[in-house]
Amino acid sequence: QQNRARQLKMADLPAVTQDGRCIEIGANIGTAQEAPAAFSQGAEGIGLFRTEMLFMDRDKAPDEQEQFEAYQQVLMNAGNHPVIFRTMDIGGDKKISYLNIPQEENPFLGYRAVRIYPEFTELFTLQLRAILRAATTGYARLMIPMVHTLDEILWVKQQIASAQLSLKAEGLRYAETLELGIMVEVPSVCFIIDHFCDEVDFFSIGSNDITQYLYAVDRNNQRVAHLYNPITPSFLRMLRQIIDVAHRRERWVGLCGELGGEPRYLPLLIGLGLDELSMSGARIPAIKELARKLSAEECVALANRACECKSANDIEALLDTQAIPAE
Ligand code: PEP
Ligand code: MG
Repeated sequence: QQNRARQLKMADLPAVTQDGRCIEIGANIGTAQEAPAAFSQGAEGIGLFRTEMLFMDRDKAPDEQEQFEAYQQVLMNAGNHPVIFRTMDIGGDKKISYLNIPQEENPFLGYRAVRIYPEFTELFTLQLRAILRAATTGYARLMIPMVHTLDEILWVKQQIASAQLSLKAEGLRYAETLELGIMVEVPSVCFIIDHFCDEVDFFSIGSNDITQYLYAVDRNNQRVAHLYNPITPSFLRMLRQIIDVAHRRERWVGLCGELGGEPRYLPLLIGLGLDELSMSGARIPAIKELARKLSAEECVALANRACECKSANDIEALLDTQAIPAE
């Protein structure tokens, strides 16, 4: 209780390590209403706005104006801080009755997110228009979920350009430039990060999904839950590869899965070189406080050792030897 009160009081301080490395700390939100609480808990931006929530549990899609207002509200709450709008991650297991997408046997490997946009172009365009219009209010960034090929992002860029043209023709105000990023949540992307660097401005690692796809372990299946562990040598090496390649090209890399809010693994994530961690707002004060007690240099050494471990248990044992600063 006392710790929590102290952490909250200090939540506006940045997450700067003892040796001066600053890690941006963002919040994950699902609705515009969650933004004020996130900022009062010390968020320095919205690292993931799950916009699909606006499309769920209703009988028709929100129109452009409704979306525009929700997006604008978050940008207003954010002030100068960045807001990453993830375009709708729907289909697959996130059922939207009015889209009439047939039931699938393997929804997580199915028709989902960016894969459905070409069929539902009108819906996607409407969302892009709402985001482009809202983006005149603050610092908006656009992020596409489940991208796997370069063609997908090239197609998205064409859609953005044509949404901008239509807004221009209608004399509406909109953002002429918008940073574009992808979620890294399909493992094949890791091998072509350099190609994506030619097309996008930033990356955010979706640890929830990339974990299940990397190991072929369903993130919601209790019977294989013991295999769903993002802290393995293969996972850490994958993160290192993504971050190193992106950094060589001066691209920003965040992480927005649940892993980002786990204090035990914070030294590893800092050590691997992530620029940002985005998590649920409630986790922010404690994570920021812990980051301020760490040394980035020691975190790098720790991450390097963890990547050489032969098993998840060895990594855990290594972490146990660390004097994690007390709360
Ligand atoms: C992820 O996959 O890690 C992620 C943040 O996206 P979601 O949990 O919404 O699929
Ligand atoms: Mg995901």
